[in-house]
Amino acid sequence: MNQYFRPNIAAMASYVPGEQPKPGTQFIKLNSNENPYPPSPAAVAALQNITAEALRRYPQPFADDFRQAVSQVLGVPKDWVIVGNGSDELLNVLIRACVEPGGKVVYPTPTYVLYKTLAQLQGANFVEIPYGIDYQLPLDELIAAQGAVTFIASPNSPSGHVVPQKYLRELAGKLSGILVIDEAYVDFATENALDLVREFDNVIVIRTLSKGYSLAGLRLGFAIAHPQILDGLYKVKDSYNVDAIACAIATVAIQDQDYKNACVEKIKLSRAWLQQELENLGFQVRDSQTNFLLAQPPLGNAAYLYQELKKQGILIRYFPQPQLDDKLRITVGTEEQNQQLVAAFRRLCDGKD
Ligand SMILES: *Cc1c(COP(=O)(O)O)cnc(C)c1O
Repeated sequence: MNQYFRPNIAAMASYVPGEQPKPGTQFIKLNSNENPYPPSPAAVAALQNITAEALRRYPQPFADDFRQAVSQVLGVPKDWVIVGNGSDELLNVLIRACVEPGGKVVYPTPTYVLYKTLAQLQGANFVEIPYGIDYQLPLDELIAAQGAVTFIASPNSPSGHVVPQKYLRELAGKLSGILVIDEAYVDFATENALDLVREFDNVIVIRTLSKGYSLAGLRLGFAIAHPQILDGLYKVKDSYNVDAIACAIATVAIQDQDYKNACVEKIKLSRAWLQQELENLGFQVRDSQTNFLLAQPPLGNAAYLYQELKKQGILIRYFPQPQLDDKLRITVGTEEQNQQLVAAFRRLCDGKD
């Protein structure tokens, strides 16, 4: 059937999301960086209050209620905010709006694999520049590449590191194209790059409710940038890209900062505990500013451990690719989930399983 497709679509591989076991099955799911805690009770109550009338009508085309809430919470003007059906949609809209087929999409690797997929969909060229030792940003190469769009995930997945703001500032000033700073994990980090949006009209910061706010199923992401950048993106996005339910729930969820911050604090404590336990088992674990850890098992048997854990009903992420195929990416779960994970690793590492 491939003859029906554009050549770049026929040739490309699909993006592979983390496995999603059927609801009701007994998996400990630590493979997609979902938040292990439920969403804000106020947001769940807002779901109960969705009316039939709200579903009968088309939703707000620009998710105004949610943008108003973002404006209050982050202290940015409302017209500097765009809302998407997950931040993935906004990444997609950006590439469609800014990169010609044959144009250049640039990013340091390893990083979020979707950047490559989206570039391929657009028929764009992707320029992958490896991170240096200890995830040093390859600043000169990124500048030299002059992408129409340059993606930096900060904190990055799967490494968990934050790119220091001084490097992002230098990059923004020396790129003629757009610099996308993907802050999907910002809620778990000690710094962010929101200030750069005010300094540079080519910077866009992208955030999501999927990780910090426990709302991955809702599909709600947003971005902050100069209104003239957003004007271009509005031409490309679907008219009604954010549904009425998502807009209503997200508006309540983002205003419940106390609840989100309490969940984040629990996860940070668990992150420290899990890192220590893994290190006690001989793993090398990177310090992380996210809700996951990148851990290198002592015997170099990452693929084996991934498979064995899966047999035991524990899902973590294994990336069979250079730089990562000796490591495991582990989402921080509830205390109990983390304990079960550590117990399973201990049995496997002791060879008693
Ligand atoms: C999870 C993730 C996203 C996707 O977020 P959604 O809002 O759920 O689409 C984007 N970027 C990175 C780096 C992520 O890890």
